[in-house]
Amino acid sequence: MFIKRLPKFEYHAPTSLSEALDLLAKYDGKARVFAGGTDLLVSMKKREVLPEHLISLKGIAELKGVHHDQKEGMRIGALVTLSEIEHSRMIQEDFRALWDAVQVMASPQIRSLGTIGGNLCSAEPSADTAPPLIALDASVEIISMKGKRKVLVENFFRGPGESVLKPDEILTQILIPHPLEKSSGAYFKLMRRAAMDLAQVGVAVCLSFNSEKRTCRGAKIALGAVGSTPIRASKAEQILLNKEINETVGKEAGKTAAQEANPRSSIRASKEYRREMIEVLTKRAVMAAYHRLH
Ligand SMILES: Cc1cc2nc3c(=O)[nH]c(=O)nc-3n(C[C@H](O)[C@H](O)[C@H](O)COP(=O)(O)OP(=O)(O)OC[C@H]3O[C@@H](n4cnc5c(N)ncnc54)[C@H](O)[C@@H]3O)c2cc1C
Repeated sequence: MFIKRLPKFEYHAPTSLSEALDLLAKYDGKARVFAGGTDLLVSMKKREVLPEHLISLKGIAELKGVHHDQKEGMRIGALVTLSEIEHSRMIQEDFRALWDAVQVMASPQIRSLGTIGGNLCSAEPSADTAPPLIALDASVEIISMKGKRKVLVENFFRGPGESVLKPDEILTQILIPHPLEKSSGAYFKLMRRAAMDLAQVGVAVCLSFNSEKRTCRGAKIALGAVGSTPIRASKAEQILLNKEINETVGKEAGKTAAQEANPRSSIRASKEYRREMIEVLTKRAVMAAYHRLH
């Protein structure tokens, strides 16, 4: 792909959400918001999108920070960078699958610019933060001039590059419910090389256990890069429920997850290889989540 210089655009730097929403309304359909720009500016150079106005969200304090909310759980601002997540002890301890995911994303330079909001809003089937957020039961808060709405991350994606987000809307924060006691998680990503590559397959698993830490009482499995959007593997989750976790149960869950996915062949991997790897990575993620607690 031949990459050209950036096309001409007018740059806006609002310092509040209301100012940003006013600008989106004013330049109706001709403006795009951006955060780190690691996706959008590349797409503009490739002439895939040509907004006349770019609205930087970086100066909006309301979109920053990681907060613990008594009622809602964890609130992660849309502008929180992948690097901030990578260095958050709280996320490492309580939301391990998400922490795992950012460790294997891009490079330190891209992680210091790229945001969690931008990763979701790009809506790539391989977006690495999507499977862990689905497995963690997370929602996103979306705002427009008409008001706010909350959407489960599981229902956020519509297709490659497409989400439920409308052109006049801004994603403000990600809400993750409190972790259950005796719970853990893991994210495994298959890449063609050890770093700086998009997922061929990504698997997130979150498990919770009863008080003796023996029987699995909650299981969430989500897959990335295995169809047009990240998906939940609910039949595979059922395999784990009310069971003691071991290699045999993990393998069965992996087999079921592979049947639930609808991978396609692409330059990164054939659909047959992807299906096999879903099985392998799901079992590995189940066992990793289990061993982290035992
Ligand atoms: C070299 C390289 C390696 C990469 N590796 C990976 C990888 O391993 N895994 C992976 O998942 N991704 C990867 N990416 C993609 C990208 O870096 C990430 O998706 C990043 O998180 C995007 O965040 P951003 O803030 O830069 O998004 P931006 O480029 O600023 O925005 C992306 C899109 O989201 C929209 N948007 C951004 N924020 C909001 C908001 N708050 N509300 C509404 N719309 C919004 C923008 O309009 C744009 O359409 C890579 C990119 C590069 C260049």
